[in-house]
Amino acid sequence: MKSIVIAIDGHSSTGKSTVAKKLAKELEYKYVDTGAMYRAVTLFAIRNNWIRNAEVDENQLIENLSSVEINFEYNPEAGTNDVILNGENVEKEIRAMEVSEHVSSVAKIDEVRKKLVEIQKQLGDEKGIVMDGRDIGSVVFPDAELKIFMTASADIRAQRRFNELKEKGEDITFEEVLKNVKHRDDIDSNRKNSPLILSDDAIKIDNSELSQEEQFEIILNLAKKRIASA
Ligand code: C5P
Repeated sequence: MKSIVIAIDGHSSTGKSTVAKKLAKELEYKYVDTGAMYRAVTLFAIRNNWIRNAEVDENQLIENLSSVEINFEYNPEAGTNDVILNGENVEKEIRAMEVSEHVSSVAKIDEVRKKLVEIQKQLGDEKGIVMDGRDIGSVVFPDAELKIFMTASADIRAQRRFNELKEKGEDITFEEVLKNVKHRDDIDSNRKNSPLILSDDAIKIDNSELSQEEQFEIILNLAKKRIASA
């Protein structure tokens, strides 16, 4: 069976990671969550106090980017690929609301994108990979054999995210989550460098009305077809 590259892009909180992870498991492919990489750089900036009053000290961050090392490590207990920032497992910390609040401002910095895109390209050079993010089909792997663009209404996405965060015990309101989802949509779609776009060769899936299982079946079938014809 031939290995292909599967790019899953889309809006925040559309369940990209969930479906990408499941797909990679089913196909025995590698899975890379690129949002986790941008989140790890954001955590690095927060810890160094380079984000104050919602302003990122871009110069400091850029100057120190060479001391950011990002890896993934398989976590057998959770069955996930955890993100490792300079040797420390930060999988939990990067999901906190404070990181979500600033990640899009960090992700629009050219130097940050350049560094992370380079790592992402290397991770996929042997194919057999499912990667999710915002610019995977447009910038990281423009030749990906299968490109999916996932979306859903902002209200539905915020509700899903809100439920997740509540389950984790975060003290947050639905309105705060909705505001964050819309804010990230806005920055991600309107930034100059690698904005979130629906490319002509991507298949758009609006999952507002789909269950996780229905969506997975659709994407798995698409993947199987592309693999068969590759
Ligand atoms: O996927 P997730 O929501 O965790 O991504 C967090 C943020 O990282 C996004 O809102 C976006 O600003 C940024 N990102 C990006 N390019 C990617 C993946 C994520 O700009 N390929």
